[in-house]
Amino acid sequence: MDIFFVYLHQNSLIMSQKNCLECNEPIKGRSDKKFCSDYCRNTYNNKINKESRNLVRNINNRLRKNYKILTELNPTGKTKVSKMKLLDKNFDFQHFTSIYTTKKGNIYYFCYDQGYLEIENNYYVLIKRE
Ligand SMILES: [Zn+2]
Repeated sequence: MDIFFVYLHQNSLIMSQKNCLECNEPIKGRSDKKFCSDYCRNTYNNKINKESRNLVRNINNRLRKNYKILTELNPTGKTKVSKMKLLDKNFDFQHFTSIYTTKKGNIYYFCYDQGYLEIENNYYVLIKRE
């Protein structure tokens, strides 16, 4: 009976054993711990932060590039360009900062104060918001 109990007890210890999220070594001590050491916790969290910083930086770069393209193509504040021209400059239609829908249902996409609206025949109107 005692042996049986010890066996079960050991089993449940094994079941509840957790490994460090960083180095994958078994964690000793409290069962709510996620890391074996402060070193592993810091390393892990720094990696997560770095990934999210990279994500934000990449999107910011895309937006900055789009903004530069729109600004260059639209020196007067209002102009018309072909979709080809935008694509030639590697304009990225997936990244913008806001959307403005007019009462007529036209949808302007904005990168900061530079907007674009798709019109007929693969053309776009570019406008600068005042
Ligand atoms: Zn560890």
